[in-house]
Amino acid sequence: MYKREAIRHCRDCGAAVAYRLPDDGDTKQRAICTACNTVHYENPLNVVGTVPHWGDRILLCKRNIEPRKGKWTLPAGFMELGESASEGAARETTEEAGAQFIMEGLFTVMSVPRVGQVHLYYRARLTSDVFDPGHETMEARLFTEADIPWDELAFRTVKETLEHYFVDRRADHFGTHAFDIA
Ligand code: ZN
Repeated sequence: MYKREAIRHCRDCGAAVAYRLPDDGDTKQRAICTACNTVHYENPLNVVGTVPHWGDRILLCKRNIEPRKGKWTLPAGFMELGESASEGAARETTEEAGAQFIMEGLFTVMSVPRVGQVHLYYRARLTSDVFDPGHETMEARLFTEADIPWDELAFRTVKETLEHYFVDRRADHFGTHAFDIA
């Protein structure tokens, strides 16, 4: 989605940090506090979402927030501490679309090393075609494959997930697809 800002201040004492190699033989530059020497490790974040389907249509949300405001996305967002990946995906679907649905299997797992993220999408079977989108969404709408606004999708991982979804649907078999986004 978007690249994280570099750490500027120590989370323990508030002093400035500097990016340098730690003294313990670590081979990567880390954000190290110039006062208390705490090493702040940064690791990829998980983005979790769903492919909500209703008959032959897929639910997309028009983003009301940056980045990519005004573009269409599958419901997704950053996983929170204390929840599982599927719980996070369900929560985002409720928050962004106000949808009623039943969670199904894991569908795509995409590493996006350029931005330090892993995106996971689950299939979700909608149990209603009435939506109540939250403030992050301008509009929640169902699209057939032919109507998907391919040039107005917010993120590459959304496009890839939708492409795999329609291929699998034609084959009448949904697998789990793990791949990397260069
Ligand atoms: Zn410190």
